[in-house]
Amino acid sequence: MFVYKFGGSVLKDAGGVRAAAGMVKKAGTALTVVVSAFGKTTNALEEIAGMTWRQEKGTEEKLQALRGYHLQIIRDLFGEKSIAEAKAEEIFYDLEGLLKIPPGNTAEKWYDAVVSFGELLSGVIVGEAFRQEGIPLTEVDVRQVIITDDHYRQARVIPEITAKKIKEAFGKEEGVSLTQGYIAATEEGVPTTLGREGSDYTAALLGSVLGAEKVVLWKDVPGVMNADPAVDKEAVHLPGISYQEAAEMAFYGARVIHPKTIKPLVNSHIPLVVRGLFSPGNEGTIIWDLEEMVRHVPVFIRKERQLLLSVFPRDYSFILNKHLEDLFGLFREWRLNISLIQISAISVSFCIDDPGALFMDRVKILQEKYEVYFNRDTELWTFRHYEEGVLRKKMQGCLTLVEQRTRLTAQYVIKRI
Ligand code: ASP
Ligand code: MG
Repeated sequence: MFVYKFGGSVLKDAGGVRAAAGMVKKAGTALTVVVSAFGKTTNALEEIAGMTWRQEKGTEEKLQALRGYHLQIIRDLFGEKSIAEAKAEEIFYDLEGLLKIPPGNTAEKWYDAVVSFGELLSGVIVGEAFRQEGIPLTEVDVRQVIITDDHYRQARVIPEITAKKIKEAFGKEEGVSLTQGYIAATEEGVPTTLGREGSDYTAALLGSVLGAEKVVLWKDVPGVMNADPAVDKEAVHLPGISYQEAAEMAFYGARVIHPKTIKPLVNSHIPLVVRGLFSPGNEGTIIWDLEEMVRHVPVFIRKERQLLLSVFPRDYSFILNKHLEDLFGLFREWRLNISLIQISAISVSFCIDDPGALFMDRVKILQEKYEVYFNRDTELWTFRHYEEGVLRKKMQGCLTLVEQRTRLTAQYVIKRI
């Protein structure tokens, strides 16, 4: 059995949905298919949720635009008055109902309920497209299968219950099971989400529990490159990389793979393949136990919207384990992702994903015990298997705030000047 995941970058119009159906038909084996929301639907839903929450005007137009976008795809695929259209209209009716309920003090919970609609829509539309192609289909509502805690927007999967439910719902010997990525629910059935771009992780989770032969992420790029081709003209395609390399790349910001995707696959040695849906001749990138292949491929990854936070104990005491324990505890509670740490005698600096609007409240709490300095709008640049010449060239015109090097990796927190 293979797991195929189709992301929003390929499922963005009728052509993309047809191409996905074509690929599924060609697979020639039992398949579990995971879909994300079409195109930029999750962004649109996020915006709608935010505007509704802040009681701003204009949500109705945004909602109608999103509805129009989906109806266009449906009509391109099935013509007028299709089953898919009736199903989508029902979903939009429910979404409208939800947007009328004022969120009160449960904004995060409500946010997850709203953004889940993207995958609910793509799920039914892709399902109808598969049926139209004569694909034997079982549809599974992932919210009854992937069970999480109630940390909305970044929910953690409860492994035992989830594994049991996945095995019950999927694992058919033949045919195609179709389900949604990114969304999940608590044990009580309240919708949650696994963190933005989390559909890759859903696919990996299903693949690992079901012992898939491989998990394939179908993308609009032909695989993983050693740098972002949009900014680096010398970027090259990587045919194979190790789990370790992929984990490093994902962690430090290579957007082609979601950071949580690797872990579920490593222990079961399931290969993860990243392939271009529209690049038929290209085998893509295989991520597997490929230790030797990767040693010498230089990789350059940029992580944007970073925040450099420096913390000093107020009494000028040395940084001790108790301070670190305290700070890590708070970061864990706030689910701040730390990408780099640097400790000096009397301070400790963290490079973290900027938590946006929440940040200043966090700073206030830290200031109760620490002197706090921060620098927003920084970037973390990571060079794996680096060469001095390349480093020097790339770092021109940047202000280096932090530098760290090991034998394999050079990292810089920089500010563009
Ligand atoms: N639709 C979700 C998002 O855009 C999940 C995903 O695309 O993987 O964040
Ligand atoms: Mg998406």
